[in-house]
Amino acid sequence: MSDTAQPTGRCYCGCGKEIGYGRYFAAGHDKTAEAAFLAIHHDASVAQMLHAHGYGPDDDKSVTKAAVDKGLWLECPRGCGYRGARESINNHVNRYHREK
Ligand SMILES: [Zn+2]
Ligand SMILES: [Zn+2]
Repeated sequence: MSDTAQPTGRCYCGCGKEIGYGRYFAAGHDKTAEAAFLAIHHDASVAQMLHAHGYGPDDDKSVTKAAVDKGLWLECPRGCGYRGARESINNHVNRYHREK
């Protein structure tokens, strides 16, 4: 991808803070920026954001299923239906399927 955001040493939330090389945000400011974006574009609602992008509660519109289908996320190898990024899956398996 050529049009990806590049870290510039200044916080992407627009607060003007100088941050370390290779980072996009000062600590916690990614959440601030996300909340502001949602407030502006989607009534501060993740549900509205998903809906605007064609996702929803139905299985064929599931955003987590789409992430798995794109090969970005994984499904729980124990088949419980949990989906997440690789690290999340590892945590999930350790927490919910730990062998006694
Ligand atoms: Zn900031
Ligand atoms: Zn599971």
